Formats: sequence, structure tokens, C-alpha cells
Amino acid sequence: MGLMRDKLPACKGLGAVMQKLFLFLLILVAVWYVRRALAAAQESREHRAERPAPGVSEVKSEMMRECSQCGVLVPESEGVVVDEQFYCSQEHAHVRGRRSDA
Ligand SMILES: [Zn+2]
Repeated sequence: MGLMRDKLPACKGLGAVMQKLFLFLLILVAVWYVRRALAAAQESREHRAERPAPGVSEVKSEMMRECSQCGVLVPESEGVVVDEQFYCSQEHAHVRGRRSDA
């Protein structure tokens, strides 16, 4: 390599080597970049696939209870319990408490 460069005019030889080196580095960077992009895309796809599953199981694991006033199904955490009766909202719990239309 050193001998070959010595035989050629310094600037021309160095330029050709640099050009090849630059092209080689460019290909390396391109390959690395594409592989990284593909890996990132695959990772994000896996994350997107994973995400809905826990969300669905979370909703399913929560107890749904029927409002004693209107019969609507409401997650237990969103409802109100008065005298061991479950209601969808404070308003319905109060309606029952007043017994205005029961
Ligand atoms: Zn209700």
C-alpha cells in the first residue's frame, strides 16, 4: 500500500484512496442507519402491539356494577355506594335517598 502510493503522484493517489474510503464509510453509515431504522420500526411496532393488551385486561379486570336507580353498568371505581346499594352517580344515590319516585 505504501509502495503503491509512493509510485503515484501524492495528491492523485491520496485522493483516490480518500474517495474509496469515503465511499466505504458512506456505505457503512448507510447500512448502519438502515439497520437502526428497521430495528426502531420493529421495536415501536412491538410496543404498539403490546400496549392494547394490558389496557383491555385492565378494563376487564375492573368490576362492572349495575346502578340501582337506572340500571346502567358502571365501573365500580366510578360509581357510588350508599347503604350497600351501587349507583352510577351521586345524583342517583341522592334520588334513592330522597325516595321521591321509588
Ligand atoms: Zn344511575
